[in-house]
Amino acid sequence: MDYEKLSLPNYNIPDDIQNAVAITTLDRLYNWGRRSSVWPLMFGLACCAIEMIAAQTARYDLARFGMEVMRPTPRQADMMLVSGTVTKKMLPSIIRLYNQMPEPKYVVAMGACASSGGPFKEGYNVVAGIDKFLPVDVYIPGCPPTPQALIAGLIKLQEKIDKESIKTVRWYNKEKFDGNYVPMPILGPDLIDVRRNAEIRDIASAKATQESA
Ligand code: SF4
Repeated sequence: MDYEKLSLPNYNIPDDIQNAVAITTLDRLYNWGRRSSVWPLMFGLACCAIEMIAAQTARYDLARFGMEVMRPTPRQADMMLVSGTVTKKMLPSIIRLYNQMPEPKYVVAMGACASSGGPFKEGYNVVAGIDKFLPVDVYIPGCPPTPQALIAGLIKLQEKIDKESIKTVRWYNKEKFDGNYVPMPILGPDLIDVRRNAEIRDIASAKATQESA
């Protein structure tokens, strides 16, 4: 047990019962459980995935964070590690996987491609950052980031989880936040974000009016 993370400071519990007694808050208990077993979803998109795979080897020992077993199904995963170039063709599948993950769920953008499109930013087939579609919690810079950089990003995610409160997290506040379910983008001649349908319709009708005038 990571006693320091679970217990509130400033309570002098005798050393001999510290393994049996903790004085804490519900938020701290919730966050401690969550941060210590963030299960990653097993999928990779491009070269960054090789570094992600390397980070899972014994040398880096992700078991220290409870993240050592990648889950082959989104239904058992808490964290989506977007490692690699996000193409427009792949994006609907990524969104579908995200929607299939139970809450609480986190997204880590690993590398320049996942964060911003990277070297392919202006490419006709590449999405300029997964954050255009999914709520990203941590960005990890690099092309590719090393396993050490990935671990630093995962520690940042744990620090973010430590600050959460049951009262304000988005998965228990569905009226206010819509980030838990993301509508599937449509892959046509170009990618259409269905959340922007009204805006797209307005622009199209304004263009049609201009042309007919
Ligand atoms: S950031 Fe660099 S290493 Fe990672 S997927 Fe893109 S091109 Fe490959």
